Amino acid sequence: MNAQDLPSSPLLAFERQRAAASKEPGPPWAVRAERLRRLQRLLVDNEASIARAIDADFGGRPAIETELAEVWPSLEEIKGALRHGRGWMKARRAGVGKWFIPARAQVLPQPLGVVGIIVPWNYPLYLAIGPMAAALAAGNRVMVKMSELTPAFSALLQQLCTQAFPLEEVCIVTGGAEVAAEFSTLPFDHLLFTGSTAVGRKVMAAAAANLTPVTLELGGKSPAVITPGYPLAHAVQRILAGKLLNAGQTCIAPDYVLLPRDQLAAFVEAARQEARRGYPAGLADANFCSVVNDRHYRRLVRELDEAASRGARTECLFEGASRDDERHRLAPTLLIDPPADCGAMRDEIFGPLLPLVPYDRLEDAISFVNARPHPLALYWFDQDTGRVDEALHRLPAGGVTVNDTLLHITQESLPFGGVGASGMGHYHGQWGFDTFSKLKPVFRQSRLNGMALFLPPYRPLMRRLLALMKRY
Ligand code: NAD
Repeated sequence: MNAQDLPSSPLLAFERQRAAASKEPGPPWAVRAERLRRLQRLLVDNEASIARAIDADFGGRPAIETELAEVWPSLEEIKGALRHGRGWMKARRAGVGKWFIPARAQVLPQPLGVVGIIVPWNYPLYLAIGPMAAALAAGNRVMVKMSELTPAFSALLQQLCTQAFPLEEVCIVTGGAEVAAEFSTLPFDHLLFTGSTAVGRKVMAAAAANLTPVTLELGGKSPAVITPGYPLAHAVQRILAGKLLNAGQTCIAPDYVLLPRDQLAAFVEAARQEARRGYPAGLADANFCSVVNDRHYRRLVRELDEAASRGARTECLFEGASRDDERHRLAPTLLIDPPADCGAMRDEIFGPLLPLVPYDRLEDAISFVNARPHPLALYWFDQDTGRVDEALHRLPAGGVTVNDTLLHITQESLPFGGVGASGMGHYHGQWGFDTFSKLKPVFRQSRLNGMALFLPPYRPLMRRLLALMKRY
């Protein structure tokens, strides 16, 4: 039996959620936990059909990658919220200024109301469920707009949520970019958008009309920097792991590599070996993901061809075919020393191409990164801890993993989000709970207090006290 009837428009659904939120502005923990458990059950019971739907949308996404990079981290978010949510909800003690003792102060997390979430296609499960778990734990109602590029999975999630939640709690919206644009004009109490920087600008402009606060989880070019002397085989293994998961269609995938010039040839050789070891059947390997659709495939092929025609040496890392136009599958390919203004070095790659940018002095690598928009992620490979600390201070980035790739996103204790062009705000764990809560400051006056001295008409004693307060 369906728990909800589908609304005819996102606006109608929004109005019903808003009315429900007004009726129950602060749901107790038991209610929130039960919603989270329903979400958890929905995932656990339907894992196989979820993997099949995403596989169909991509025209080839290994089920194990869906399990590893979508189902598992989604369950981690839900389990973390179930474990800690009751504590996150509690009033947090805060100090009072010394002149106000013995009054008390606290910060009381309060649900915002109705939260909107806009989801991209590359990890359609995790990037829907992660923010949903945080918003539900914080006591909100949630509306989610799925991407038009994952129609099979979007329809499945809509169907599953329709069965598991009344419309007043969770509503999944499908449809094209025009529906997404309309969705972003709804007067949400918070809107979390995950997607490109270009669309992020439009979303923020639409939200501004309603004074809706936004969290923008955007993309960009995330560099991997290999410092002189770092064991190259290890760096290559971890950079390729980060790059080839989901065929590079990962917001925090290492986009390009900065490495000492004298290590170029060794990198190429190690990368070839590593890719062939990991994907022995090359393009036909069942563990290698397709590019999501023909448009993105052709964009990547264009970038590869442009870099080659403008002097970059290219190195296909698979044995056998390097392209499968029919199934839009593209072999991982190194672009060696490409011109700085070619498409692959200008725009986020979001696919299995990996530019190698050689440097002569580490200082040049730092300047290279800092001359570009702040990245969503930075990967720094270094055995010198002093130099690591210096790099951390000198390089702004949304998040950093040292001596590996991707893993900062998996840590519930760390805020996840970009900076500058790669985004604003953050979520995951308590950071997400706080993003979807108003942290309401409360001052509790004590019966014993000196406020009467400060009321008009202002007396000489008050002036003397004020002089004292300014000094101490
Ligand atoms: P996109 O910006 O094209 O689309 C994202 C979503 O926005 C889709 O659901 C789409 O329907 C919707 N949309 C389209 N036009 C809109 C409009 N005018 N108003 C409101 N919404 C609109 O991004 P994409 O191609 O789906 O995803 C790839 C991008 O997402 C990459 O740049 C990647 O780096 C980024 N990304 C970031 C993160 C992160 O956590 N920071 C995670 C995954 C992907």
